[in-house]
Formats: sequence, C-alpha cells, structure tokens
Amino acid sequence: MSKIIEVSHLSKNYKNVKAVNDISFSVNEGEFFAFLGINGAGKSTTINILCTVLEKTSGNVKIGGFDLDRQKDKIKDLIGIVFQNSVLDIQLTVRENLVSRASYYGLSKKQIRERVNYLTEIFNLDEIMNRRYGKLSGGQKRRVDIARALINEPKILFLDEPTTGLDPQTRVQVWNIIHKLRKEKGLTVFLTTHYMEETTDCDNVVIIDNGQISANGTPNNLKNTYAQNSLIWYTEQGESTENMLAESKLNFEYFNSAYHIKIEKSTEATELINKFKIEDYEVIKGDMDSVFLKITGKRLGE
Ligand code: ADP
Repeated sequence: MSKIIEVSHLSKNYKNVKAVNDISFSVNEGEFFAFLGINGAGKSTTINILCTVLEKTSGNVKIGGFDLDRQKDKIKDLIGIVFQNSVLDIQLTVRENLVSRASYYGLSKKQIRERVNYLTEIFNLDEIMNRRYGKLSGGQKRRVDIARALINEPKILFLDEPTTGLDPQTRVQVWNIIHKLRKEKGLTVFLTTHYMEETTDCDNVVIIDNGQISANGTPNNLKNTYAQNSLIWYTEQGESTENMLAESKLNFEYFNSAYHIKIEKSTEATELINKFKIEDYEVIKGDMDSVFLKITGKRLGE
C-alpha cells in the first residue's frame, strides 16, 4: 500500500508553547485514519498544517508525494477539508455556496453542473438546494459542509471533529455517506474526533498528547496492548477457587455470579481457561476508552 501522507519530525511552536513537538506518522492511501487527543493536544494545529492553512516551524510533510514546502498548490488540489466551524456563506443558498466553491477550482460550467448534481444526489440535498445555508439545521449544514469539501474530487478528506454537536441519528447518516464514498472512490479519510466509538472502524489510530505521539496502531492492536481486558468465569463462589486465583497472583472480583479476572492479553485467557479447566466463560476486550485512559491517563471529552 502506498503512503499518501508522510509526516516526519513535524513541530509547531507558538512563542514558547510547543503545540506540536516532533511528531512522525504516515497514512496509507484509502485508509480511514483517526487522530485522537483531548482538547489542546495538538490535533487542530497538525491538521491545519497538513491542509496548508498554517505554517509549520520545522519538519517535513509529503502529501500524495508532493512536498508541503514547495508544492502547496498541488496538495490543495488533492485535499478537501471540513473544519469544525463552517466556512460557508450563511446568506447564500446551498447551490450558490457549492457553485462558488467549485469556481474556485477553475472548473468549467459543465463540470461544475455535473459535480454539484453528483454531490446533491449523494448527500440527498435536493430539497434544501435553494434554501439559504444559514437557515438549515445542524445536520443539514454538516451534509453541505462535507459536500463542499468534496467539490474538487479530493483524494483525501480531512474531517476536524465533524460530528460534534450532531444528534446520534444525523451522526450515523453522516458516517454512512462517508463510508460509501470510501468504498466507491477509495477516499482516504483523516479524522479528528473525541467520540471513541467512531474510531472502532478505523484502520489506524494515532493518539496525540501534549503535542507528542503516545501511541500508533490499529484499534485491535491498541486494544490488545493497552486495554483492560477481563476473563469472566461463570461459577459458584468458593474459597478453594479464590485461593487458587490468589496463588496465581491474579487480580479478581466476584459479582453477577462470576469471577471477573483482569488479564493483559487475550492469550492469557486461553492459558487460564486451560489451567483452571474453566468451562463457562467470556473474554471481554477493553474498549478504546480504556486504551486512551491507559496511554494518556486522561479521559477523552473531559
Ligand atoms: P487540539 O486541536 O488538540 O484541541 P490545538 O492544536 O488547538 O489542540 O492546540 C495545541 C496547543 O497549542 C494548545 O496548548 C493551544 O493552547 C496552543 N495554541 C493553539 N493555537 C494557538 C495560537 N494561535 N497561539 C498560541 N497558542 C496556540
């Protein structure tokens, strides 16, 4: 798989604040990539540098093989961005907003019409096309924001906390459209979010804390390495069982008719099941919330 984003020793200082401090990572073409961190971790600074809207202090960035220092215009053609706060004109209609954005890329009238029609269909914008952007609901606005970001047929879509403030139903709707585009167009998606459940489907996650990368991997690898997993053993409570567990230096509690035994990795469950001849059990993998907590000592959303 080819790397579509390559970040090497990237730093950004604001006077004496090291907002981004020597980070390196890459994103493969077609990947669904999540950048996670609490407020102030350095997510927006990083995404803004990659999107060419903020100057870096040092380091190297390549997007689609183009160098950020020398080939900004080439990079701009490859990317679409959905900012946290919309950049659309509240006085213009949805159509006027999309057409004016398309003109920015120097497309012909025919190309603009085709592109706007395509996005109208994908994002189900027919009914709101002639309404003023400022009069739309939050969910409708977000659909238009994402359509705007895709007007130049980018290869990479940057989404900075795209579903913050949306109701659960609209969030699902927004994600369905994005996943459809990924599947149909091979779109690479670079997401920042603090909704952990949105990272479950990701191919790769980078956790940023205090301007530095504290973990990088697939959700599954991160869960195997960092999440608090447990083996739940359904059995009657008994002294001899507890002595046996204590002798093996296990950390356990008895509740809901079962021993809940803390384990590091799924493989440890297999060993214990064999060792204690456990018949009725479940292995529960810790979720991404517990991964984040273990790595940063902080909870997302706090
Ligand atoms: P996040 O997007 O993860 O919430 P940011 O990238 O916005 O984090 O911020 C990272 C750090 O840089 C924070 O400490 C923030 O206060 C600081 N920062 C961001 N923008 C500026 C700025 N324009 N001037 C000074 N400090 C800034």
